[in-house]
Amino acid sequence: QLPIVAIVGRPNVGKSTLFNRLVGKKLALVDDRPGVTRDRREGDAHLLGLDFRVIDTAGYEDEDPDTLPGRMRRQTEAAVSEADVALFLVDARAGVMPLDEEIARWLRSSDTPIVLAANKAEGRAAEQGILEALALGFGDPVQLSAEHGEGVGDLFEALLPYI
Ligand code: GDP
Ligand code: MG
Repeated sequence: QLPIVAIVGRPNVGKSTLFNRLVGKKLALVDDRPGVTRDRREGDAHLLGLDFRVIDTAGYEDEDPDTLPGRMRRQTEAAVSEADVALFLVDARAGVMPLDEEIARWLRSSDTPIVLAANKAEGRAAEQGILEALALGFGDPVQLSAEHGEGVGDLFEALLPYI
C-alpha cells in the first residue's frame, strides 16, 4: 500500500498538469477551461526516489467557478481524509482568491497534514501571488511550475516527512 498524496485546489490552478508530471503519463485531462477534470484520477507517482499514489481531485464544467459546488467539496473531502498528506495548490499568477481561502478553511479543520504549493511560480508575475499564498497560514509555499517542471526538489523535501 503506497502512501497517498491528494492534490487539492480550485479549478485551473494546475492540479492535472502536476498530476501528469508526477505520474508521467497523460492520465488526467488538462484544459484551459476551469474545472474540466470531471472525475477523480489516481496514478502511481515517482518523485526523486519517493513512490506514492497521487489523486487529482475533480472540478467540473457548467458550474459557477466562483462558488464551491457540493460535489467538488465531497470529492475533495473524501480524497483528503484518505490521504497521508494533502498538497494544496494555488495559482501564483492569479493570486489567492476567495475560493482558495474557502478551501484553506476546510483544510485547516482536517486532520490530514497540508503542504501548500504556489504553482505557475515561474517569472516575476508570480511574486505577489507567492506572498499572498504565504498569508494563507500554511507556512512558506513550495514554489512550483508544473508546466515547466520546476520546484520538484522542493516539493520532494516538503512531502518527505509525511510519506
Ligand atoms: P486544474 O483545473 O487545477 O486541473 O488545472 P490544469 O492542470 O487543467 O491547468 C490549467 C491551466 O494552467 C492550463 O492551461 C495549464 O497549461 C496551465 N498551467 C498549469 N501549470 C502551469 C505552470 O506551472 N505555469 C503556467 N504558466 N501555467 C500552468
Ligand atoms: Mg484538472
